[in-house]
Amino acid sequence: MPDRVVFLAHCFLNPQAKIQGSPDIADLSGKILKILLENKCGIIQLPCPELLHGGLSRWGQTKYQYDTIFFRRHCEKLAETIVDQAEEYQRHQVPLGPIIGVEGSPSCGVTLTCDGPWGGELSENDNLLNKIREVQLVKSRGVFMEVLQLSLDHRSITLDEFGIVESDPDNSLHKLQNYFCKRKIVGEKKV
Ligand code: SF4
Repeated sequence: MPDRVVFLAHCFLNPQAKIQGSPDIADLSGKILKILLENKCGIIQLPCPELLHGGLSRWGQTKYQYDTIFFRRHCEKLAETIVDQAEEYQRHQVPLGPIIGVEGSPSCGVTLTCDGPWGGELSENDNLLNKIREVQLVKSRGVFMEVLQLSLDHRSITLDEFGIVESDPDNSLHKLQNYFCKRKIVGEKKV
């Protein structure tokens, strides 16, 4: 039996869900899974909110564009079964978490997301490159992670969060391993 259950961003188990042309994360995904399995984690794959909204040929967007009532409602529906599962595991005293997200994602960022006032017609925009450069990495959760946290809060469930920085994989992997080592030293028991 696994020692705990973690919630993992969809694309770390299925990199094909990422925006076409994204950097290859297959190696990073394999190393994350190795750490999780070595630490006896059961893994719940979070849904990919962007794939289920815009499909595989979606453009990369900013949090500003996704932060609408429509996308939030979409995320609420997706979060519901995740929160249901969290509640059921808690009811049976199974240690839970962390939620592992993707730093910089407008949907799945945990502490960092990309933001900027994008939008509008592309083909007629002579200023497109300058517009694209307005995107910034800002300290904030992505929309899906915000909605998931609100849904967990409503059920009084508190879970750790952990953000993977894809551009700094070694540091992220080191911190993830440390996260589990600390829990072993503390001697975590079923709650
Ligand atoms: S929306 Fe989330 S799960 Fe989907 S590709 Fe982006 S970071 Fe990965």
